[in-house]
Amino acid sequence: METCYILFGANMGDKNHIFAQACQLINNRCGRIVKVSEAYESEPWGFEADSWFLNRVIVLETELNPECLLVELLEIESELGRVRYADRQGYASRTADLDILYFGNRIINTETLTVPHPRLHLRRFALEPLCEVNPDFVHPILQMTQVELLQLCPDDSIVRVIKSNNDEEL
Ligand code: ATP
Ligand code: CA
Ligand code: CA
Repeated sequence: METCYILFGANMGDKNHIFAQACQLINNRCGRIVKVSEAYESEPWGFEADSWFLNRVIVLETELNPECLLVELLEIESELGRVRYADRQGYASRTADLDILYFGNRIINTETLTVPHPRLHLRRFALEPLCEVNPDFVHPILQMTQVELLQLCPDDSIVRVIKSNNDEEL
């Protein structure tokens, strides 16, 4: 059993609904979700896009090996795309992106999988939710906590927590 950290990203369609569907499919097929971060909205990073992203980190306990987990996540991504855009020809743009950020403390470099995710420390939209769910977790290669990585992160794009209605009423 390993604890892994998955980053959900979406910038099309009903993003909250797609996130809920992704969580349900992950719970059914990949293991047990033990925690999810708050919802973050983030500026598109590294490319032009019409709308902002919803990003959330999912903390998953899994018995799958990393390659099997990746295969399941790619399948879920594609199912979510198919469900939503079945009426379109081909794939316009992806509705859901599921990246493995960490898989326990493992360091993996295969043709299809690099873990820790090679760009997570450059991305505020990954580090902000990671800091929320496990600020003291140490990056197995860089040997820094999530808080330290965020402090050193050169990314100055905007990432903010979307307050839930309940929070706003407090
Ligand atoms: P980025 O990796 O920069 O966030 P992306 O998420 O848009 O880019 P994709 O097109 O979703 O990239 O993924 C391309 C391939 O990346 C996947 O098919 C998968 O084999 C590979 N990959 C390598 N490492 C990982 C990882 N840690 N998590 C998910 N996919 C990975
Ligand atoms: Ca990605
Ligand atoms: Ca991806």
